[in-house]
Amino acid sequence: MSYHVNEKGYYGEFGGAYIPEMLYPNVEELRQNYLKIMAEPDFQKEFNQLLKDYVGRPSPLYFASRLSKKHNTKIYLKREDLNHTGAHKVNNTIGQILMAKRLGKTRIIAETGAGQHGVATATVCALMGIQCVVYMGEIDIARQAPNVARMKMLGAEVVAATSGSKTLKDATNEAIRDWINNPVDTHYIIGSVVGPHPYPDMVARFQSVVSEEIKKQLLTHEGTEFPNHVIACVGGGSNAAGAFYHFLDEEKVNLIAVEAAGHGVDSGESAATSILGKEGIIHGSKTLLMQTKDGQITEPYSISAGLDYPGVGPLHAHLFKTGRAEFIAITDDQAMTAGMELTKLEGIIPAIESSHAFAVLKEKQFQPEDIVIINLSGRGDKDLDTYIKHFNL
Ligand SMILES: *Cc1c(COP(=O)(O)O)cnc(C)c1O
Repeated sequence: MSYHVNEKGYYGEFGGAYIPEMLYPNVEELRQNYLKIMAEPDFQKEFNQLLKDYVGRPSPLYFASRLSKKHNTKIYLKREDLNHTGAHKVNNTIGQILMAKRLGKTRIIAETGAGQHGVATATVCALMGIQCVVYMGEIDIARQAPNVARMKMLGAEVVAATSGSKTLKDATNEAIRDWINNPVDTHYIIGSVVGPHPYPDMVARFQSVVSEEIKKQLLTHEGTEFPNHVIACVGGGSNAAGAFYHFLDEEKVNLIAVEAAGHGVDSGESAATSILGKEGIIHGSKTLLMQTKDGQITEPYSISAGLDYPGVGPLHAHLFKTGRAEFIAITDDQAMTAGMELTKLEGIIPAIESSHAFAVLKEKQFQPEDIVIINLSGRGDKDLDTYIKHFNL
């Protein structure tokens, strides 16, 4: 069984590039060049240098002793929350801006939901002095004002998507439309392991630095490169893809993907995409997505803005279908409780996306000698309002 993309851009039955004719030249240009460019020593050097000096990598692998004691197992946190801009997303945007430069592109577009990917994209555009346009749903613009302000400060133009539900999937549609109209000078920085091939593979490779570091760091801590379990939350799936990447072919490492159950998997208000999803095509990729009987995409819901995408990347659809990864759905309440527990026991306020991964500690009993890695995908500063409301702080 392979868990890597094949030459045609598929993970098992999922993936591919289902795109309009007019997008073909852009996607094809990227497909033909991405591996070649990523392998260039000069690219590698610049990518690694920026990850080190600008992002602050390697991010620590921290042994959480009080959390471990509470759950009677050995828990290590991969501290992506300590990256510049506060999450894992910048690993990918650094990689893609360097890719865009080598493809001779002078303009960047991106979609964003909560604004985290928009900020990470606007950040690297400021860093490189490249024009940046971010598409964002009108509703998201209203509810994520601080991130909109950040993007503007960083010099990005934020364009409101006013169609459909005025959220992430509509912003994505607008970005695709822009790309069709600007095929020559523009690169589209997609923010997760979603979209047409080669995006899911390219983004997974940029994020794979996470598991590459985990292996080295765990060797120093525990004398082995291989944990028993790796836990990560899944929106589109990029932080999980990065945390799983170098363990995919090591069947002894149990991979746990955590989706947002919102008000409950069966409540009609959730984002448990793999569990509830059916095969379909979204944003150029065949994958599992939440849809009605007649194929209309269902509006996802989660308390965490970063997890409410109606689809999931094709790698994760494949991991679900083959059983390589275990998929667990966590409700809003369970996630918030777990986020508070981490805060109280370790002095770390996690992003609510990441809190979903921590909630698994109550759902599953691990062995005392097990090594459990939790990918702490981001910090909770952006979520303070939500924590305040939830706990009446
Ligand atoms: C965006 C985001 C996610 C969800 O995106 P993935 O592509 O699934 O990783 C998770 N955690 C944080 C902190 C985020 O900002």
